[in-house]
Amino acid sequence: MLTSFIPVDKESHFPIQNLPFSAFETEDGEIHLCSAIGDYVIDLFVLDEAGLFDGKHLKDQFAFQDSTLNFFMGLGKPAWQEARQTLTNLLDKENPTLRDDDLLRSRVFIPMEDVEMVMPVEIGDYTDFYSSEQHAFNVGSMFRDPDNALMPNWKHLPVGYHGRASSIVLSGTDLHRPKGQTIPNDSDQPVFSDSKLLDFELEVGFFTGPGNELGDTISVDNAEDHIFGMVLVNDWSARDIQKWEYQPLGPFLAKNWATSISPWIVTLDALSPFRLDMPEQDPEVLPYLNQKNRSTFDINLEVYLDNEKLNEPHKLATSNYKHMYWSMAQQLAHQTVTGCNVRPGDIYASGTISGNTEDSYGSMLELTWKGTKPVQLNDGSERKFIQDGDNIIMTGYAENDDYRIGFGVVEGKILPAKQ
Ligand code: CA
Repeated sequence: MLTSFIPVDKESHFPIQNLPFSAFETEDGEIHLCSAIGDYVIDLFVLDEAGLFDGKHLKDQFAFQDSTLNFFMGLGKPAWQEARQTLTNLLDKENPTLRDDDLLRSRVFIPMEDVEMVMPVEIGDYTDFYSSEQHAFNVGSMFRDPDNALMPNWKHLPVGYHGRASSIVLSGTDLHRPKGQTIPNDSDQPVFSDSKLLDFELEVGFFTGPGNELGDTISVDNAEDHIFGMVLVNDWSARDIQKWEYQPLGPFLAKNWATSISPWIVTLDALSPFRLDMPEQDPEVLPYLNQKNRSTFDINLEVYLDNEKLNEPHKLATSNYKHMYWSMAQQLAHQTVTGCNVRPGDIYASGTISGNTEDSYGSMLELTWKGTKPVQLNDGSERKFIQDGDNIIMTGYAENDDYRIGFGVVEGKILPAKQ
C-alpha cells in the first residue's frame, strides 16, 4: 500500500490516498490553495512556485498561484489527475525531493490546527436536488399522503430548484436565526417573526469543472468528467417560512439565508475504491437520463448537535450517500438538457439524504416527524427543531480495511435572530 513520509493515523480523513483541495489563510494574510495529509495542510502555492507541478497539463499554468480553485477546475480531468499524481509522487515515502529538503518541507507543511480555512471556490451557481427517495417519501407522507407520497414526476426526473450562491458559507461560520413571514396554525393571516422551526439538511454536493457552452448539453455518460469533487453540505431550512411560501414555485427565502459547506473538496478519483453499483431504475428513465454503469459512493454520514450544556456532542443521525435514487451524472445531464450552461465552480447538492431507518433521517423534520416525536438529548433536554446556541456538526468518510477517505466536518452554530 502507498504510504507517505508524513505519518498518518489510520482514522485520519486525509491519508495519501485522499489529497483533497481547499484554501487557507497564511501567516502573512494571503490566501493559498492547499491539499491535506494527516494533520497538515499542504501549501500548493509553495509547490507550484518551486516548479514542482511540471507535467504537460500544469507546467507554466500557475494554477495553484490563484486564490480560488476555479481556474484549476476549468482545466479539466487530465489536469486534475496530473495534480493528484504529482502530489502522490512528492509525498511518497520513497521520494527524496520533498522528504529530504528541510527548507521546502518547513514551508509546505503547516499544522492544520494553526490555520484558518477559507472558501476555496468563487461559487457561481447553486442547484439543490431532491434525490433521496426515503426523504421525498417522508416529506410527502407528512404533508400529503403516504399512498401518494412521491409526486408523479419524481421517478422520471431528478427534481431540483435553483438555490442561492451568495449565502453559501464555509464550515465554522455562525449564523443568525432568520426572520420571515409565516402562518400560525390557527390563523389565515400571516405574521412576521423569528423562524420557530429551524432545521438542517444533511446533503453532499459536487463542484463542476469545465462545463458546457450555453445551448450545449452534457451527456449522462460524459457527466462525471465535469465533476471536480464533492463536499458535505448543510442546507439550512426554515420550515415555517417554507410551509407558507413554497406554493406554487418551490422553496425561496426558507433556504436562501445560508448553506454551509465543508472546506475540503474530495475528488472522485480518491473515492473510486468506494464505488457501488446503483440498482436498476423502475420505471425506466428517458434516454437522456439512461446512464451506463450507474454508480454512487459508499460514504458514511453522521450528524451531531452540540451546545454549551452538553458534555459531548449528541448524535442525531447516521446515514450514507448510497441512499440516492439519482446519480450525480444524471443530475448534471438533467441540469443541462435544456442547454443551460454549467461553469467551473458551480455547486450541485444532493438533497437531504435519508436512509430507511428512523435513525438515518437527514433532517429534524423527519427525525422528530414534524415535531411530534421530540429527540431526547443526552442532558435530558428535548429538541423538535434547532434552538439558539445549537451547533450542528456533520461529518463524512468512506472507509476500507486500510484507510479512510474523509471530508472533515461542516459545522455551524445558530445565534439568536438579529434585532
Ligand atoms: Ca435541500
